[in-house]
Amino acid sequence: MATKNVVIIGGMTLGAKVACRLKRLQPHWQVTLVEQQPDIAYASCGIPYFLAGDVPELQGLMTTSFHMVRSTNFFENAKDVRIKIRTVALAIDRQAKKVRVCYLDNAQEEELPYDFVVLATGSQPVSLAVPGAELSDVSAVSTLKEAREIRDRLSRGKITRVVVIGAGLQGCQLAAAASDLWGVETSLIETSPQVLPGLLDPPLARMVQQHLQERGVEILLQETIKEIRPGGADHALEVVTGGSRRATDLVLTALGSKPQTKLAEQAGLLVSPAHGIIVNQRLQTSDPEIYAGGGCAAQLHLITGKSVYFHEVSLAHRQGRVIGTNLAGGAALFPGIVGSFAGKMFDLAVAGTGLTLAAARQEGLEPVAALVVQQDHAHFYPQADLIYLQLVADRQTQRLLGAQGVSHNGDALVGRISSIAALLQQGASLADLANLEMASTPPFTTALDIVNAAANTAENMVAGYNQAITPEEFQRLFLEEAPDNLMVLDVRGAANAAPFVGYFKDRWLNIPQETLRHRFSEVPRDKRLILVCNAGLRSYEALRQLQTQGFTNAVGLQGGIASLKKAGLLTIT
Ligand SMILES: Cc1cc2nc3c(=O)[nH]c(=O)nc-3n(C[C@H](O)[C@H](O)[C@H](O)COP(=O)(O)OP(=O)(O)OC[C@H]3O[C@@H](n4cnc5c(N)ncnc54)[C@H](O)[C@@H]3O)c2cc1C
Repeated sequence: MATKNVVIIGGMTLGAKVACRLKRLQPHWQVTLVEQQPDIAYASCGIPYFLAGDVPELQGLMTTSFHMVRSTNFFENAKDVRIKIRTVALAIDRQAKKVRVCYLDNAQEEELPYDFVVLATGSQPVSLAVPGAELSDVSAVSTLKEAREIRDRLSRGKITRVVVIGAGLQGCQLAAAASDLWGVETSLIETSPQVLPGLLDPPLARMVQQHLQERGVEILLQETIKEIRPGGADHALEVVTGGSRRATDLVLTALGSKPQTKLAEQAGLLVSPAHGIIVNQRLQTSDPEIYAGGGCAAQLHLITGKSVYFHEVSLAHRQGRVIGTNLAGGAALFPGIVGSFAGKMFDLAVAGTGLTLAAARQEGLEPVAALVVQQDHAHFYPQADLIYLQLVADRQTQRLLGAQGVSHNGDALVGRISSIAALLQQGASLADLANLEMASTPPFTTALDIVNAAANTAENMVAGYNQAITPEEFQRLFLEEAPDNLMVLDVRGAANAAPFVGYFKDRWLNIPQETLRHRFSEVPRDKRLILVCNAGLRSYEALRQLQTQGFTNAVGLQGGIASLKKAGLLTIT
């Protein structure tokens, strides 16, 4: 039986997946995995949770679900894959069909012949380019080694202050981890005006920010790091931004990552420096005998049709399988991504898929965004949590564009986001989501699921029935600008509205929605009205009632008081 030599460069998610799939299909082929780190195939996505103490032992990130350690021995014995750890691939000679590697333990070099190469080199953290970034107490946390060192230092109690730079998913998670388990004073510094830039639109980003602040993380937005200096007697470092200084014992950088494409570029393969190695749907590079996938490969975004950089653990697994199949002689295709993600900060889950409202606008679309707040399961079944979900769709075509959410019930949230992601991949419309069949029972769902409700709300907005403002617009209009001719019509019950009426006096009118049709005469026609209720449902009912009576001076508040409170925009007890 003809055998082939396959050299896989990079031994983490994608590399290990390709090796295992290929050996199952072609047991006689020689598969060699080259990895520069001392460990292979560990779950780097578990690092923030190890730092937070949710995962007690680092070993947990290195084991299979059946508790085998993914060691060199495991791969060699159980999978028959040759493993070369602490080995760097230096160059690919495409003429001679050889990969030149260097063994880090003895600096010896060797050339490995190949029939096929797989580039599984992943991504590398973006480094901080300011004076002082090289100081020893400044570190990224993307490898097992770094995670082990940082957790050891935190657990010894020597660190009392941490500055995290970058409020992306990893930065927010690191800040929560340092503050939560270790009680360390933590500051999170970000250049954008919001946390999770690019991932969440402002309404939901505000909720995450509020959650981090409530749990003790100091957040500094729109701050650019200028320098990191050695500190004084009390703290090792001082972080200097355009507008502030923070003394700290440790700086953790989380500035995002970029594709690791050096080998591909040197080998003359087609590469987009910002997005990764260019591949076709079979995940072949411009050289059909060299495949690439996961963090180092450029991905096709199925909504924009553009090439993007996107890395995610499940993506690496799915692409690994496609590559393994194709190497073995199969014909698997990978169509593209819609950009789904999830994370957890303290006890708050955040997840999203597709385009944000801001990204959709950048694409030149005319999007509509519906912010919906609903319980994760039936209100009469105990212990319901709220889900805050924002759905984005194209106003013209009603095509679904994206969704983002936060909730303390992460399982419920991620399930909903994943169902929307499945529709996004099909180019589905609001009507498809409104009619999406969701399995339902009171302990797990409401009778009409939040994803269906969000589609209905967006449809109502597109049709012009539901005219609504966002929590930020409410803050600006009602709390900051506060013109005389603007008032709130609170359509909740009297007990809920009373503190607000007491606080805002004649700027806050209460007429419960169930009494509204008998009290139209009390509704001012000479003022601009913002209708509010708890989550946005009753205010929409009230809006429709007023519209039928010829009122044209009213809009609803999306997500209601629940959203304002969750975002920390209105705190009245
Ligand atoms: C801290 C952290 C948290 C994360 N959290 C999540 C999460 O919650 N959800 C999620 O979906 N994703 C998460 N990710 C991302 C996810 O882990 C990656 O997208 C996924 O692992 C990509 O897999 P990959 O195999 O393509 O690349 P990588 O995991 O980046 O692996 C590439 C490997 O190639 C090796 N390598 C590179 N160049 C060479 C060379 N020349 N010679 C030898 N070896 C080389 C590297 O050492 C590395 O081990 C997280 C990542 C990190 C670091």
